[in-house]
Amino acid sequence: MVLLVTGRCESTCWYCPLSEEKKGKDVLFANEKRTDSEQDIIEEARSIDAEGTGITGGDPLTCMQTQDHIRSLKSEFGEDHHIHLYTQSSDIDKIRSLIEVGLDEIRFHPPVKVWNKIDETDYPLLLETLKDLDIDVGIEIPCIPEKENDTLALIRSLENLVDFVNLNELEFSSTNWKQMVKRGYKKKSDVSSAVKGSQEMALKILKSDFKVPIHYCSSSFKDGVQLRNRIKRRAQNTAKEGELITEEGTLIKGIILAENPLEVLDELREYYEIPDSLMWYDPENDRIEIALAVLEEICDEIDYECYGIEEYPTADRLEVERWPVKDGKD
Ligand code: SF4
Repeated sequence: MVLLVTGRCESTCWYCPLSEEKKGKDVLFANEKRTDSEQDIIEEARSIDAEGTGITGGDPLTCMQTQDHIRSLKSEFGEDHHIHLYTQSSDIDKIRSLIEVGLDEIRFHPPVKVWNKIDETDYPLLLETLKDLDIDVGIEIPCIPEKENDTLALIRSLENLVDFVNLNELEFSSTNWKQMVKRGYKKKSDVSSAVKGSQEMALKILKSDFKVPIHYCSSSFKDGVQLRNRIKRRAQNTAKEGELITEEGTLIKGIILAENPLEVLDELREYYEIPDSLMWYDPENDRIEIALAVLEEICDEIDYECYGIEEYPTADRLEVERWPVKDGKD
């Protein structure tokens, strides 16, 4: 599970990909679900069979509740629920307090301006201190093509102090594209939001002779494989009997739109004897939802708008397709 505990951060990275709804704001998201309750976080983790949680931000170390979230996840799912956290902060007291409640791994994201002079910062001493504590420590940064030499210098300086280095493909987002364009960056292709040249740089670094393990995460892996696996698990755990799970993990079902959906639901239930597991009221969208096969059987006999829909099983239930199911309109 991805747990974004705050949109606030003391850094001002020009490539920050955070969306408008999160950037600089005190918001909490468990995957796509905006919430403020510990119980919702646990339910979201359960709905995707989460084996671990990545705590992110903004900077989670600026959030007072990060410790509580770690404590509650560990107490609910046990010690084996792996928790890692991303931060740019080098505040050892705060980090210690998180290790005490069970943080398993920390990934530092030092500001770009210090990559080529990291030895002059607090990081080396901090990493030395963490070596004696029970936590895995890594560096996680984006591959910025103009910063290849600084990236190499950073890894060289810290390779004996960290357990791993993660390199991410740099990506365009709705909030950073102006800065990207200003710096002359282009998209890798029309269907990708990744920056041209970022992957090539990562592959070059992977071939360099470092002692520390280096991992590269492409934007298509992050957005494709990781996201698809999470969505599939969520679909399997949350789909109703009347919803069909596709290979991609989206859900297919029918919907009936009526002025008084609750009254219509009662009428249909009585007349056609449809069980609750195959037809129900959706309060979020004020509509009737129904197994598509059942809707196809009855739609020509009822006087309401009837559609088939495909939507994501995520908390925001993004609808990706809608089609009419009445005869002649399919
Ligand atoms: S450290 Fe992360 S969250 Fe903070 S500004 Fe940089 S990219 Fe954004």
